[in-house]
Amino acid sequence: MTASAITPELLARYDRPGPRYTSYPTVPEWSADFGGEQYRGALTEAAASPDIPLSLYVHIPFCPHRCAYCGCTTITAPSENLVSRYLADVTLEVEHAASLLGKRNTVSQCHWGGGTPTSLNAEQMGRLFGALTGRFTFDADAEVAIETNPNSVTRAQLDLLREFGFNRISFGVQDLNPEVQRAIGRNQTAERTEEMLRYCRGLGFSGINMDLIYGLPLQTMEPWMRTLEQVAAMRPDRIAIYSYAHLSSRFAHQQALDPLPRPGTTEKYALFAAARNHLVEAGYRPIGMDHFALPGDELARSLDNRTLHRNFMGYTVRQAPDQIGFGLSAISEVSNCYAQNTKDPDLYHSALERGDLPVERGMRLSRDDVIRRWAIRRLMCAFELDLVQATALFGINCNQYFSAECVLLEAYQAEGMIDLGPEYWRVTPLGAPFIRNICMVFDAYLKSSSKTLYSRTI
Ligand code: SF4
Repeated sequence: MTASAITPELLARYDRPGPRYTSYPTVPEWSADFGGEQYRGALTEAAASPDIPLSLYVHIPFCPHRCAYCGCTTITAPSENLVSRYLADVTLEVEHAASLLGKRNTVSQCHWGGGTPTSLNAEQMGRLFGALTGRFTFDADAEVAIETNPNSVTRAQLDLLREFGFNRISFGVQDLNPEVQRAIGRNQTAERTEEMLRYCRGLGFSGINMDLIYGLPLQTMEPWMRTLEQVAAMRPDRIAIYSYAHLSSRFAHQQALDPLPRPGTTEKYALFAAARNHLVEAGYRPIGMDHFALPGDELARSLDNRTLHRNFMGYTVRQAPDQIGFGLSAISEVSNCYAQNTKDPDLYHSALERGDLPVERGMRLSRDDVIRRWAIRRLMCAFELDLVQATALFGINCNQYFSAECVLLEAYQAEGMIDLGPEYWRVTPLGAPFIRNICMVFDAYLKSSSKTLYSRTI
């Protein structure tokens, strides 16, 4: 893809509200009719396949203060009591799910996200990790990952995490320009970020990731490129570049950013395209939509082997069909059902105290949902649909099953964004930035949905 082929006119035409497709059907389609009881049924069903490993996610919502751009479920500056109660609640939730899962207790992937998981102290991290390993058996080669802030994590914490068996780590960097950092409420130098990266590498962490965000207030091309140069020079194994969604009507704390200039659609895309070009020139390989990896990294290898997968945490090399989420707002995907926990700490606590699962909403997927989820995931991971694979998996002929979609895809084909071949439907480099628009063609809910879409496709 050359940036010049992506014209402002094309961007303007395709920039529209659209889902990020971390799930299909997307969260707004889930309903409160699917609650703890239904989730209990899904976990019980999952117990029938004891040999299939699980993926675990734990949400640790605590942060010392709230960054102005934050869109996560967080609790800032929590009291010691609140943290203790939360850890006790998560332990109860783990016990509850594990007993329903019975002999299904092998784990191939575990991820601690937040919030800032390393805002827990050593004893608290030990308590939480013990709650998981007390009920689940981690595979010897399990991927055990944590998100952290390079500015606040300590060497002692990193030593401890390695001792527990954590082997993947992701640093929130966002932007190294001090002006942007001041605006968004972060403060981290390139030196400190690099020091922590090197320390992790020395400890044996692999797949070390850095997250960047484009579209933030005050971002302009020149300093953004300096951030890219600095980050690429550090050689993290992976770099993820996310688009900032400014939703100050939904997140009141983002109103602090309202008066500041933010890049518009064309500038935003230019920031992304420049970042992409820089990373490719620096030897990184684009993975899926917004991830980049060094050629020797597992993500790049699995792209070549066509074994790349995507779940709520992003791209992954491990396929664990069932993901069990613990903690506030955590999402589970089990037995073709989705379930999301409440975001309210008191409701979370009282549900668990009553012996209930703290699910706020969810859904059981129909066969059509499962087929469309497969199509959307393959497009997001591999930028193609293998029509032979669709027949093998679901007994369908894509040309017939997706005949209405084919008509819409022909317009994208005319634009040069997709090739509709007899065996593969392949997104072209020109179509790659518009992958979410292409996925929307397969979304059966969009036509009938009256739900607000918060993110935009570009
Ligand atoms: S560190 Fe992350 S989760 Fe915590 S406030 Fe900042 S953006 Fe939100």
